[in-house]
Amino acid sequence: MAKDPKHHVATRLSHAGRAGTHVHGFVNPAVHRGSTVLFPDTAARREGAKHRFEQFMTYGTQGGPTHYAFEDVIAEIEGGTRALIVGTGLAAVAVPLLAYLKTGDHCLMPDNVYGPARNLAGGLLKGWGVETSFYDPCIDEAGLRALLRPNTKVVYTESPGSHTFEVQDIPAIARAAHAVGAKVLMDNTWGIHHFQPFKHGVDVSIQALTKYVGGHSDVLLGSVTVNNEADWLVVRGTGSQLGQFASPDDVWLALRGVRTMLVRLQRQEQSGLEVARWLEARPEVKQVLHPGLPSHPQHALFKRDFTGGCSLFGVVFQPRYSPDDVCRFIDSLALFGIGASWGGFESLCIPTTGNITRTAGSGDFGGPMCRIHIGLEAPEDLIADLTQGLGHLGA
Ligand SMILES: *Cc1c(COP(=O)(O)O)cnc(C)c1O
Repeated sequence: MAKDPKHHVATRLSHAGRAGTHVHGFVNPAVHRGSTVLFPDTAARREGAKHRFEQFMTYGTQGGPTHYAFEDVIAEIEGGTRALIVGTGLAAVAVPLLAYLKTGDHCLMPDNVYGPARNLAGGLLKGWGVETSFYDPCIDEAGLRALLRPNTKVVYTESPGSHTFEVQDIPAIARAAHAVGAKVLMDNTWGIHHFQPFKHGVDVSIQALTKYVGGHSDVLLGSVTVNNEADWLVVRGTGSQLGQFASPDDVWLALRGVRTMLVRLQRQEQSGLEVARWLEARPEVKQVLHPGLPSHPQHALFKRDFTGGCSLFGVVFQPRYSPDDVCRFIDSLALFGIGASWGGFESLCIPTTGNITRTAGSGDFGGPMCRIHIGLEAPEDLIADLTQGLGHLGA
């Protein structure tokens, strides 16, 4: 289908990634597995090599029809021109950082950044002579400008942060970064289609497709989306040098998942807000960290830049409770799984107090914390479970 920006995102998601993929009339593309790609003659092979980053099959690592269909869907969601699909969300974080940073460069990362991204900054990047400084995620334009150095090549962003949910002023950060020629990278996993990164000044958008796009807790994938040919060649070239590849079976699963993503997301967002509002009114709870709640410190920014959200949020308990009390609460829940990740059909809850590393700020929210992911269960059942769970808090 030709891209028609007049169509609602729901319509575009039903039709994207289908052109040219029909096999024997079936609606969906097949799983194309392959390493070797055969050419009719050596001249055709020579010609093909010139188009290897253009959805042109030359070798398995350059992708095939299943990948191309899915790439188009992700570019559509993000509002970009091209998307690179990689094996995990973390690989999608790593590829653009490695693409735009080299020895002697400086990188800025928000203090609430996804933990493994911080590990990469302090590990491989540091070892290769890239210095990273961490900044307050709620920084304004002047504040960021003061942190930029002549060698700052990347300003990394993640909004909202996936444990503490600060919303960043991305347009302000992008203005400051672009004034010194730095690239703005954004982890847009929480916003999904509700935040359009390229309309707000982002150069490279990262998604952990493992979350709502996959949606069924059975697939790991990531994407790196860009909005022009120059960035595509840098990102795709780096992915290629690193041998990044996503299994066509996983891509097929995610392509299946993404067709129903909007209805899942809508339901989960609504249920999440219902549970968040309920928790906020409980005496045991000090604060609920959900950008969609009017009480959130950056709610105005969220309303300005996002068209909605998802079902992942944080809870800060009253300081009279200890982290152990919160663990007892979590252990007593019957409908919430205890485990990492989010965006699947099932609800989850994990303690976050000990998991938050901060170097630019204190990260102290004034009480022990947990993170809740709301799945597709009925919210009244989840609230009943949370009610009995809260009974175990002070026991
Ligand atoms: C989960 C997650 C990732 C990494 O995704 P994986 O597929 O698990 O590697 C990256 N960023 C954020 C914000 C995440 O929550």
